[in-house]
Amino acid sequence: MKRVILVRYGEIALKGLNRPLFESKLINNIRKSLYGFGKIDVIKSQSRIYIEPDGEDYDFEAAMERLTKVFGIVSVSPVWKIEPEFETIKEYVLKMVKELLDRKELKTFKVEAKRGNKRFPMESPEICRELGAHLLTSIPSLRVDVNNPSFTTFVEVREWAYIYSEIITASGGMPTGTNGKAMLLISGGIDSPVAGWMIAKRGVELEAVHFYSYPYTSERAKEKVIELTKIVASFCGQIQLNIVPFTDIQLEINEKCPEDLMTIIMRRVMMTISERIAEKRGAQALITGESIGQVASQTMQSLAATNAVVKIPVFRPLIGMDKNEIVEIARKINTFETSILPYEDCCTVFVAKHPKTKPQLKSVEAAESHAVLEGLIEKALENTEVLLIRGQEPIGE
Ligand code: ATP
Ligand code: MG
Repeated sequence: MKRVILVRYGEIALKGLNRPLFESKLINNIRKSLYGFGKIDVIKSQSRIYIEPDGEDYDFEAAMERLTKVFGIVSVSPVWKIEPEFETIKEYVLKMVKELLDRKELKTFKVEAKRGNKRFPMESPEICRELGAHLLTSIPSLRVDVNNPSFTTFVEVREWAYIYSEIITASGGMPTGTNGKAMLLISGGIDSPVAGWMIAKRGVELEAVHFYSYPYTSERAKEKVIELTKIVASFCGQIQLNIVPFTDIQLEINEKCPEDLMTIIMRRVMMTISERIAEKRGAQALITGESIGQVASQTMQSLAATNAVVKIPVFRPLIGMDKNEIVEIARKINTFETSILPYEDCCTVFVAKHPKTKPQLKSVEAAESHAVLEGLIEKALENTEVLLIRGQEPIGE
């Protein structure tokens, strides 16, 4: 018997030529995410991937935990790979179910069998019946429930027999690196990490840009953004984070522009700088965490005024979502607790008491022209600090 991990991926969404790219990227990303866990064979067979560790003491729990975060994987199962021989299957199915029942209190079950190997002498219904009866007589506390079982034991007979009873849901999406690169504007808030995760889930490689206003915002506020970037990177491998000093720009805007348009002008400068970094880094879009009407700078008019300053496409995956829906995802991806840490953000430092909620682009542009920004933008780009944030510390380095 050998323990292996079965990886399922979303084959249905794949068309023609995309498929080999999808599969080879996925296998590559799987290998990267399990780097340092020990030697493995990764075997692709019939739209599935099997991960077979070489040694005895492989950490399956930790490996599966990591795999559930790898985009492109729909689910994983811990599987026992055994000789395709009925007595052996019987023996190991019982062992496996007993092991499962030691960990979880489960009362009802069913058996599902698939026979891919036509040399195997029994047909699927017979395999189910015999194994079901064997489990019932061996474990008196169990009952069969074919409609709503608390667990299902799967038996697949191919060149080998594969048995398993657990299916662990993973992130889904497309493998990182199959759909270009985008630049995430990440603040320390709840929304932008979620926005980044949503786009990354579609196979888009991420880079990030953060604007900070030292000494108005603290070193800890910056640490918080690094931590959030790291959590997002735990799904997609690594993220290059560009940290842009924003204080001089904010002071200039604060001094020269009308207060009620200050935020929107700052947001436009953020977009401008992000677009330039995106161009330099080969990113094809920007990503923000904006959602219609959430704050004054996210009304339809404000969004239009922010959008007008860049040519690059801007993705706003949260645009139609309510805060509680965003929070739900933030909890799921584990960014929420970090996002609500109470450190100040650069936008909360220079904030107007009564920001315009319906700014007209013409008046925003007129107001903006009072500030002398180009030199400051270039200086900010020059002084940008670049960090490579890895999702996981590689084991054994
Ligand atoms: P978040 O929760 O993401 O901070 P928010 O609801 O607080 O969003 P705003 O502060 O208006 O909204 O920012 C809107 C978007 O602008 C953010 O989602 C983010 O993409 C970007 N953004 C805001 N502040 C910064 C910053 N300091 N650095 C980089 N991007 C920022
Ligand atoms: Mg914010």
